Amino acid sequence: MTARDRRAEPQARLLSLDEALARISKVIRPIEGSERVILKQAHGRILAEHVDARIELPPFSNSAMDGYACRLADIQASQETRLKVAGASFAGHPFAGSLGSGECIRIFTGAAVPDGADAVIAQEEVLREGDHIRFTKVTEFHENIRPAGDEIKAGERLLDRGKRLTPADLGLLAAIGQVDVAVKRRLHVAFFATGDELRSIGQPLAYGEIHDSNRYTLYALLDHPGIEAIDLGVVRDDQESIRLALQEAADVADVVITSGGASVGEADFVAETLRELGQVDFWKLAMKPGKPLVFGRLGPAFFFGLPGNPVSVIVTFHQIVRPALTQLMGGQVTPPLRLQAVCRSRLRKSAGRLEFLRGIFSVDQEGRFSVAGCGEQGSHRLSSISRANCYIVLPSENEGVEPGEIVEIEPFFE
Ligand code: AMP
Ligand code: MG
Repeated sequence: MTARDRRAEPQARLLSLDEALARISKVIRPIEGSERVILKQAHGRILAEHVDARIELPPFSNSAMDGYACRLADIQASQETRLKVAGASFAGHPFAGSLGSGECIRIFTGAAVPDGADAVIAQEEVLREGDHIRFTKVTEFHENIRPAGDEIKAGERLLDRGKRLTPADLGLLAAIGQVDVAVKRRLHVAFFATGDELRSIGQPLAYGEIHDSNRYTLYALLDHPGIEAIDLGVVRDDQESIRLALQEAADVADVVITSGGASVGEADFVAETLRELGQVDFWKLAMKPGKPLVFGRLGPAFFFGLPGNPVSVIVTFHQIVRPALTQLMGGQVTPPLRLQAVCRSRLRKSAGRLEFLRGIFSVDQEGRFSVAGCGEQGSHRLSSISRANCYIVLPSENEGVEPGEIVEIEPFFE
Protein backbone atom coordinates (compact mmCIF):
# COMPACT_ATOMS: atom_id res chain seq x y z
CA MET A 1 0.00 0.00 0.00
CA THR A 2 1.47 3.36 -0.98
CA ALA A 3 1.34 6.34 1.35
CA ARG A 4 -1.26 7.81 -0.95
CA ASP A 5 -3.45 4.69 -0.71
CA ARG A 6 -3.17 4.64 3.06
CA ARG A 7 -4.39 8.20 3.17
CA ALA A 8 -7.23 7.44 0.78
CA GLU A 9 -8.35 4.19 2.40
CA PRO A 10 -10.05 5.39 5.60
CA GLN A 11 -11.81 8.19 3.71
CA ALA A 12 -14.02 5.63 2.01
CA ARG A 13 -15.75 4.92 5.32
CA LEU A 14 -16.19 8.55 6.32
CA LEU A 15 -19.47 10.34 5.73
CA SER A 16 -19.34 13.90 4.44
CA LEU A 17 -21.00 16.66 6.43
CA ASP A 18 -23.41 17.31 3.56
CA GLU A 19 -24.39 13.64 3.44
CA ALA A 20 -24.97 13.62 7.21
CA LEU A 21 -27.09 16.79 7.01
CA ALA A 22 -29.13 15.33 4.14
CA ARG A 23 -29.75 12.09 6.05
CA ILE A 24 -30.85 13.97 9.15
CA SER A 25 -33.13 16.38 7.34
CA LYS A 26 -34.74 13.49 5.51
CA VAL A 27 -36.02 11.84 8.68
CA ILE A 28 -36.86 14.95 10.69
CA ARG A 29 -40.41 16.29 10.72
CA PRO A 30 -41.31 19.56 12.42
CA ILE A 31 -42.98 19.07 15.79
CA GLU A 32 -46.75 19.35 15.95
CA GLY A 33 -48.38 21.80 18.28
CA SER A 34 -48.58 25.53 18.60
CA GLU A 35 -49.70 28.07 21.16
CA ARG A 36 -50.93 31.65 21.03
CA VAL A 37 -48.66 34.12 22.78
CA ILE A 38 -48.90 37.87 23.25
CA LEU A 39 -46.47 39.89 21.13
CA LYS A 40 -43.98 40.56 23.91
CA GLN A 41 -43.54 36.81 24.33
CA ALA A 42 -43.24 36.12 20.61
CA HIS A 43 -39.70 37.40 20.04
CA GLY A 44 -37.50 34.66 18.58
CA ARG A 45 -40.36 32.18 18.35
CA ILE A 46 -41.30 30.42 15.11
CA LEU A 47 -44.52 31.63 13.54
CA ALA A 48 -47.06 28.78 13.25
CA GLU A 49 -49.51 30.63 10.99
CA HIS A 50 -49.43 32.95 8.02
CA VAL A 51 -50.28 36.48 9.07
CA ASP A 52 -52.19 38.73 6.66
CA ALA A 53 -52.54 42.46 7.21
CA ARG A 54 -55.94 43.27 8.68
CA ILE A 55 -55.53 46.97 7.92
CA GLU A 56 -53.54 48.87 5.31
CA LEU A 57 -50.30 50.66 6.15
CA PRO A 58 -50.14 53.54 6.49
CA PRO A 59 -53.81 53.63 7.50
CA PHE A 60 -54.21 57.19 6.10
CA SER A 61 -52.20 59.52 3.82
CA ASN A 62 -49.75 61.39 5.99
CA SER A 63 -46.89 63.80 5.71
CA ALA A 64 -43.25 62.71 5.63
CA MET A 65 -42.11 66.24 6.49
CA ASP A 66 -42.76 69.23 8.67
CA GLY A 67 -44.11 71.79 6.19
CA TYR A 68 -47.23 72.95 4.40
CA ALA A 69 -49.84 70.78 2.67
CA CYS A 70 -51.15 72.41 -0.50
CA ARG A 71 -52.70 71.74 -3.92
CA LEU A 72 -50.38 71.06 -6.85
CA ALA A 73 -52.76 73.06 -9.04
CA ASP A 74 -51.99 76.17 -6.97
CA ILE A 75 -48.22 75.92 -7.41
CA GLN A 76 -46.86 78.36 -9.99
CA ALA A 77 -44.18 76.77 -12.11
CA SER A 78 -42.04 79.81 -12.91
CA GLN A 79 -43.12 82.58 -10.58
CA GLU A 80 -43.71 82.93 -6.88
CA THR A 81 -46.57 81.02 -5.19
CA ARG A 82 -48.43 82.71 -2.32
CA LEU A 83 -50.88 80.69 -0.21
CA LYS A 84 -53.04 81.39 2.84
CA VAL A 85 -52.43 79.18 5.89
CA ALA A 86 -55.96 77.95 6.63
CA GLY A 87 -55.28 75.64 9.58
CA ALA A 88 -52.95 72.99 10.97
CA SER A 89 -52.69 69.19 11.02
CA PHE A 90 -50.70 67.65 13.86
CA ALA A 91 -49.85 63.98 14.40
CA GLY A 92 -52.92 62.61 16.16
CA HIS A 93 -54.86 65.85 15.58
CA PRO A 94 -55.92 66.03 11.93
CA PHE A 95 -57.24 69.18 10.24
CA ALA A 96 -61.02 68.86 10.19
CA GLY A 97 -61.92 70.62 6.96
CA SER A 98 -60.74 70.31 3.38
CA LEU A 99 -58.40 72.52 1.45
CA GLY A 100 -59.76 75.35 -0.74
CA SER A 101 -58.09 76.96 -3.73
CA GLY A 102 -55.18 79.23 -2.76
CA GLU A 103 -54.95 77.69 0.68
CA CYS A 104 -52.42 75.57 2.53
CA ILE A 105 -52.32 73.79 5.89
CA ARG A 106 -49.45 73.79 8.37
CA ILE A 107 -48.55 70.08 8.69
CA PHE A 108 -46.14 67.95 10.73
CA THR A 109 -44.53 64.56 10.17
CA GLY A 110 -47.06 61.73 10.57
CA ALA A 111 -50.05 64.10 10.50
CA ALA A 112 -52.97 63.31 8.15
CA VAL A 113 -52.82 65.08 4.79
CA PRO A 114 -56.17 66.87 4.50
CA ASP A 115 -58.67 66.25 1.70
CA GLY A 116 -57.81 68.26 -1.38
CA ALA A 117 -54.08 68.45 -0.65
CA ASP A 118 -51.72 66.57 -2.97
CA ALA A 119 -48.34 68.09 -2.13
CA VAL A 120 -46.32 68.92 0.98
CA ILE A 121 -43.74 71.70 0.75
CA ALA A 122 -40.96 71.35 3.33
CA GLN A 123 -40.85 74.21 5.78
CA GLU A 124 -37.25 74.98 4.75
CA GLU A 125 -38.48 75.92 1.28
CA VAL A 126 -40.99 78.59 2.27
CA LEU A 127 -41.04 82.04 3.74
CA ARG A 128 -43.76 82.54 6.36
CA GLU A 129 -45.38 85.99 6.57
CA GLY A 130 -48.19 86.11 9.16
CA ASP A 131 -50.93 83.79 7.88
CA HIS A 132 -49.38 83.45 4.41
CA ILE A 133 -46.46 81.50 2.93
CA ARG A 134 -44.37 82.37 -0.13
CA PHE A 135 -42.06 80.15 -2.14
CA THR A 136 -40.58 80.12 -5.61
CA LYS A 137 -38.42 77.18 -6.53
CA VAL A 138 -39.59 73.93 -4.93
CA THR A 139 -37.11 71.11 -5.30
CA GLU A 140 -39.31 68.22 -4.26
CA PHE A 141 -42.83 67.75 -3.03
CA HIS A 142 -44.11 64.51 -4.57
CA GLU A 143 -42.28 62.28 -2.12
CA ASN A 144 -43.35 64.21 0.93
CA ILE A 145 -46.64 62.32 1.19
CA ARG A 146 -46.92 58.71 2.32
CA PRO A 147 -50.17 57.57 0.66
CA ALA A 148 -52.60 55.28 2.52
CA GLY A 149 -51.82 51.61 1.79
CA ASP A 150 -48.53 52.53 0.11
CA GLU A 151 -46.53 50.05 2.19
CA ILE A 152 -49.05 47.27 2.85
CA LYS A 153 -52.49 46.67 1.34
CA ALA A 154 -55.25 45.30 3.58
CA GLY A 155 -55.36 41.50 3.21
CA GLU A 156 -51.78 41.31 1.94
CA ARG A 157 -49.47 38.53 3.29
CA LEU A 158 -47.37 40.12 6.01
CA LEU A 159 -45.40 37.19 7.48
CA ASP A 160 -45.03 33.58 6.43
CA ARG A 161 -45.42 30.56 8.68
CA GLY A 162 -41.99 29.32 9.75
CA LYS A 163 -40.47 32.78 10.15
CA ARG A 164 -38.43 33.35 13.27
CA LEU A 165 -39.92 36.52 14.70
CA THR A 166 -37.46 39.42 14.85
CA PRO A 167 -37.83 42.79 16.61
CA ALA A 168 -38.94 44.28 13.25
CA ASP A 169 -41.62 41.56 12.93
CA LEU A 170 -42.99 42.36 16.38
CA GLY A 171 -43.21 46.01 15.38
CA LEU A 172 -44.91 45.08 12.12
CA LEU A 173 -47.48 42.92 13.92
CA ALA A 174 -48.16 45.74 16.38
CA ALA A 175 -48.52 48.19 13.46
CA ILE A 176 -51.47 46.20 12.12
CA GLY A 177 -52.93 45.91 15.62
CA GLN A 178 -52.22 42.21 16.16
CA VAL A 179 -52.46 41.39 19.89
CA ASP A 180 -51.19 37.81 19.82
CA VAL A 181 -49.80 35.26 17.33
CA ALA A 182 -49.68 31.49 16.96
CA VAL A 183 -46.13 30.20 17.41
CA LYS A 184 -44.75 26.69 17.47
CA ARG A 185 -44.70 25.16 20.92
CA ARG A 186 -41.31 25.05 22.59
CA LEU A 187 -39.01 22.22 21.58
CA HIS A 188 -37.92 20.18 24.63
CA VAL A 189 -34.23 19.37 24.50
CA ALA A 190 -32.66 17.25 27.24
CA PHE A 191 -28.89 17.01 27.55
CA PHE A 192 -26.26 15.42 29.73
CA ALA A 193 -22.51 14.94 29.81
CA THR A 194 -20.83 11.58 30.23
CA GLY A 195 -17.43 10.80 31.70
CA ASP A 196 -16.00 9.40 34.93
CA GLU A 197 -13.39 12.17 34.93
CA LEU A 198 -16.00 14.92 35.14
CA ARG A 199 -16.73 16.94 38.25
CA SER A 200 -19.37 19.63 38.39
CA ILE A 201 -18.29 23.18 39.16
CA GLY A 202 -18.18 23.80 42.89
CA GLN A 203 -16.62 20.39 43.51
CA PRO A 204 -12.89 20.01 44.14
CA LEU A 205 -10.85 18.19 41.51
CA ALA A 206 -8.97 15.04 42.46
CA TYR A 207 -5.94 14.02 40.42
CA GLY A 208 -7.12 12.95 36.94
CA GLU A 209 -10.39 14.85 37.10
CA ILE A 210 -11.60 17.90 35.16
CA HIS A 211 -14.55 20.21 35.46
CA ASP A 212 -17.47 19.41 33.22
CA SER A 213 -17.57 22.39 30.87
CA ASN A 214 -19.65 20.94 28.02
CA ARG A 215 -22.92 21.18 29.91
CA TYR A 216 -22.47 24.92 30.27
CA THR A 217 -21.56 25.31 26.62
CA LEU A 218 -24.60 23.25 25.62
CA TYR A 219 -26.86 25.17 27.97
CA ALA A 220 -25.81 28.40 26.25
CA LEU A 221 -26.02 26.91 22.75
CA LEU A 222 -29.59 25.89 23.56
CA ASP A 223 -30.54 29.33 24.82
CA HIS A 224 -33.30 30.07 22.30
CA PRO A 225 -36.81 31.38 22.92
CA GLY A 226 -38.22 28.37 21.04
CA ILE A 227 -36.34 25.81 23.14
CA GLU A 228 -36.84 24.52 26.63
CA ALA A 229 -33.52 23.04 27.68
CA ILE A 230 -33.53 20.28 30.29
CA ASP A 231 -30.21 19.72 32.04
CA LEU A 232 -29.84 16.11 33.22
CA GLY A 233 -26.39 16.61 34.74
CA VAL A 234 -23.27 14.47 34.55
CA VAL A 235 -23.68 10.75 34.02
CA ARG A 236 -21.05 8.14 34.86
CA ASP A 237 -19.45 5.99 32.19
CA ASP A 238 -21.31 2.78 32.88
CA GLN A 239 -24.02 1.20 30.87
CA GLU A 240 -26.64 1.18 33.61
CA SER A 241 -26.27 4.89 34.43
CA ILE A 242 -26.36 5.79 30.77
CA ARG A 243 -29.39 3.58 30.17
CA LEU A 244 -31.31 5.30 33.01
CA ALA A 245 -30.33 8.76 31.81
CA LEU A 246 -31.33 8.02 28.22
CA GLN A 247 -34.70 6.66 29.32
CA GLU A 248 -35.36 9.67 31.52
CA ALA A 249 -34.36 12.00 28.69
CA ALA A 250 -36.55 10.27 26.11
CA ASP A 251 -39.53 10.56 28.47
CA VAL A 252 -39.32 14.34 28.73
CA ALA A 253 -37.76 15.51 25.49
CA ASP A 254 -38.19 15.82 21.73
CA VAL A 255 -34.42 15.80 21.36
CA VAL A 256 -31.68 14.27 23.48
CA ILE A 257 -28.08 15.51 23.28
CA THR A 258 -25.10 13.97 25.02
CA SER A 259 -21.42 14.81 25.06
CA GLY A 260 -18.60 12.33 25.36
CA GLY A 261 -18.42 8.60 25.10
CA ALA A 262 -19.21 8.66 21.42
CA SER A 263 -15.98 7.31 20.02
CA VAL A 264 -15.12 3.63 20.05
CA GLY A 265 -13.04 3.47 23.18
CA GLU A 266 -13.71 0.77 25.77
CA ALA A 267 -15.82 2.98 28.00
CA ASP A 268 -17.93 4.42 25.20
CA PHE A 269 -21.33 3.18 26.11
CA VAL A 270 -23.53 5.76 24.52
CA ALA A 271 -23.89 4.21 21.06
CA GLU A 272 -24.08 0.73 22.52
CA THR A 273 -26.84 1.63 24.97
CA LEU A 274 -28.75 3.58 22.37
CA ARG A 275 -28.65 0.56 20.09
CA GLU A 276 -30.39 -1.37 22.85
CA LEU A 277 -33.05 1.26 23.53
CA GLY A 278 -33.63 2.72 20.10
CA GLN A 279 -32.12 3.06 16.66
CA VAL A 280 -28.57 4.16 15.97
CA ASP A 281 -26.71 5.62 13.11
CA PHE A 282 -23.10 5.79 14.14
CA TRP A 283 -21.09 8.00 11.83
CA LYS A 284 -17.51 8.77 11.33
CA LEU A 285 -17.70 12.12 9.67
CA ALA A 286 -15.15 13.43 7.18
CA MET A 287 -14.99 16.53 9.31
CA LYS A 288 -12.54 17.95 11.81
CA PRO A 289 -13.22 18.39 14.61
CA GLY A 290 -16.21 16.14 15.13
CA LYS A 291 -15.29 12.83 13.63
CA PRO A 292 -17.45 10.52 15.76
CA LEU A 293 -21.12 11.39 15.85
CA VAL A 294 -24.08 9.31 16.92
CA PHE A 295 -27.44 10.13 15.43
CA GLY A 296 -30.50 8.10 16.20
CA ARG A 297 -33.98 7.68 17.58
CA LEU A 298 -34.93 7.07 21.14
CA GLY A 299 -38.64 6.34 21.02
CA PRO A 300 -40.16 9.42 19.45
CA ALA A 301 -37.12 11.56 20.37
CA PHE A 302 -34.16 12.31 18.12
CA PHE A 303 -30.74 11.66 19.54
CA PHE A 304 -27.42 13.42 18.96
CA GLY A 305 -24.34 11.96 20.63
CA LEU A 306 -21.61 14.59 20.32
CA PRO A 307 -17.89 14.03 20.90
CA GLY A 308 -16.52 14.92 24.34
CA ASN A 309 -13.87 17.40 23.28
CA PRO A 310 -15.18 20.87 24.11
CA VAL A 311 -14.43 22.46 20.72
CA SER A 312 -15.94 19.45 18.92
CA VAL A 313 -19.15 19.97 20.89
CA ILE A 314 -19.47 23.52 19.60
CA VAL A 315 -18.51 22.72 16.00
CA THR A 316 -20.87 19.73 15.72
CA PHE A 317 -23.64 21.67 17.41
CA HIS A 318 -23.26 24.61 15.00
CA GLN A 319 -22.92 22.49 11.88
CA ILE A 320 -25.25 19.56 12.59
CA VAL A 321 -27.48 19.97 15.63
CA ARG A 322 -28.55 23.58 15.10
CA PRO A 323 -30.01 23.09 11.60
CA ALA A 324 -31.79 19.96 12.86
CA LEU A 325 -33.30 21.86 15.79
CA THR A 326 -34.41 24.65 13.45
CA GLN A 327 -36.11 22.10 11.20
CA LEU A 328 -37.76 20.44 14.22
CA MET A 329 -39.01 23.81 15.46
CA GLY A 330 -40.69 24.34 12.10
CA GLY A 331 -38.26 27.11 11.10
CA GLN A 332 -36.50 27.74 7.82
CA VAL A 333 -33.06 26.20 7.55
CA THR A 334 -30.64 28.38 5.63
CA PRO A 335 -27.04 27.45 4.83
CA PRO A 336 -24.48 29.21 7.04
CA LEU A 337 -23.16 32.54 5.77
CA ARG A 338 -19.68 32.02 4.33
CA LEU A 339 -17.46 34.82 3.09
CA GLN A 340 -14.15 35.01 1.28
CA ALA A 341 -11.23 36.36 3.26
CA VAL A 342 -7.50 36.79 2.77
CA CYS A 343 -5.72 34.47 5.16
CA ARG A 344 -2.88 36.10 7.13
CA SER A 345 -1.57 32.91 8.74
CA ARG A 346 0.01 29.69 7.59
CA LEU A 347 -2.48 26.90 8.31
CA ARG A 348 -1.54 23.25 8.46
CA LYS A 349 -3.97 20.66 7.13
CA SER A 350 -3.90 17.29 5.42
CA ALA A 351 -6.36 16.21 2.75
CA GLY A 352 -9.34 14.01 3.58
CA ARG A 353 -11.60 15.93 5.95
CA LEU A 354 -13.54 19.18 5.86
CA GLU A 355 -11.97 21.28 8.58
CA PHE A 356 -13.35 24.03 10.78
CA LEU A 357 -10.40 25.98 12.15
CA ARG A 358 -10.91 28.81 14.58
CA GLY A 359 -10.10 32.27 13.26
CA ILE A 360 -10.24 35.97 13.97
CA PHE A 361 -11.43 38.06 11.06
CA SER A 362 -11.44 41.79 10.49
CA VAL A 363 -11.74 44.21 7.59
CA ASP A 364 -8.38 45.33 6.20
CA GLN A 365 -7.45 48.77 4.79
CA GLU A 366 -8.70 47.83 1.31
CA GLY A 367 -12.09 46.89 2.73
CA ARG A 368 -11.50 43.15 2.28
CA PHE A 369 -12.09 40.55 4.94
CA SER A 370 -8.90 39.23 6.34
CA VAL A 371 -8.50 36.38 8.79
CA ALA A 372 -5.83 34.93 11.06
CA GLY A 373 -5.84 31.50 12.67
CA CYS A 374 -6.19 31.30 16.47
CA GLY A 375 -2.84 29.59 17.00
CA GLU A 376 -2.88 26.01 18.23
CA GLN A 377 -6.05 24.31 16.98
CA GLY A 378 -6.46 21.28 19.27
CA SER A 379 -10.12 20.44 19.83
CA HIS A 380 -9.61 20.49 23.62
CA ARG A 381 -8.66 24.19 23.47
CA LEU A 382 -11.79 26.03 24.51
CA SER A 383 -9.75 29.20 24.94
CA SER A 384 -9.00 29.29 21.20
CA ILE A 385 -12.66 29.13 20.18
CA SER A 386 -13.43 31.65 22.92
CA ARG A 387 -11.02 34.10 21.23
CA ALA A 388 -12.29 33.31 17.73
CA ASN A 389 -15.01 35.23 15.92
CA CYS A 390 -15.30 32.87 12.95
CA TYR A 391 -14.54 29.45 11.54
CA ILE A 392 -12.05 29.14 8.74
CA VAL A 393 -13.67 26.47 6.58
CA LEU A 394 -11.15 24.43 4.63
CA PRO A 395 -12.53 21.93 2.11
CA SER A 396 -11.65 18.27 2.33
CA GLU A 397 -9.05 18.34 -0.47
CA ASN A 398 -7.17 21.35 0.96
CA GLU A 399 -3.60 20.58 2.03
CA GLY A 400 -2.79 23.71 3.96
CA VAL A 401 -2.89 27.44 3.44
CA GLU A 402 -0.08 29.95 2.88
CA PRO A 403 -0.41 33.59 3.98
CA GLY A 404 -2.12 35.64 1.26
CA GLU A 405 -4.36 32.84 0.01
CA ILE A 406 -8.12 33.27 -0.08
CA VAL A 407 -10.13 31.12 2.34
CA GLU A 408 -13.78 30.84 3.33
CA ILE A 409 -14.83 32.08 6.74
CA GLU A 410 -18.05 31.58 8.65
CA PRO A 411 -18.62 34.42 11.13
CA PHE A 412 -20.02 33.66 14.58
CA PHE A 413 -23.17 35.55 15.43
CA GLU A 414 -23.13 35.10 19.19
P1 AMP B 1 -14.72 11.33 25.05
O1 AMP B 1 -15.46 11.71 23.80
O2 AMP B 1 -15.61 10.92 26.15
O3 AMP B 1 -13.67 10.31 24.74
O4 AMP B 1 -13.96 12.65 25.54
C1 AMP B 1 -12.98 13.30 24.75
C2 AMP B 1 -12.26 14.35 25.55
O5 AMP B 1 -13.18 15.36 25.97
C3 AMP B 1 -11.61 13.84 26.83
O6 AMP B 1 -10.40 14.56 27.00
C4 AMP B 1 -12.61 14.20 27.89
O7 AMP B 1 -12.02 14.33 29.17
C5 AMP B 1 -13.14 15.51 27.41
N1 AMP B 1 -14.50 15.74 27.87
C6 AMP B 1 -15.52 14.85 27.78
N2 AMP B 1 -16.64 15.36 28.31
C7 AMP B 1 -16.32 16.58 28.78
C8 AMP B 1 -17.05 17.61 29.44
N3 AMP B 1 -18.34 17.45 29.75
N4 AMP B 1 -16.42 18.76 29.78
C9 AMP B 1 -15.12 18.92 29.45
N5 AMP B 1 -14.39 18.01 28.81
C10 AMP B 1 -14.95 16.84 28.48
MG1 MG C 1 -15.55 10.02 27.93
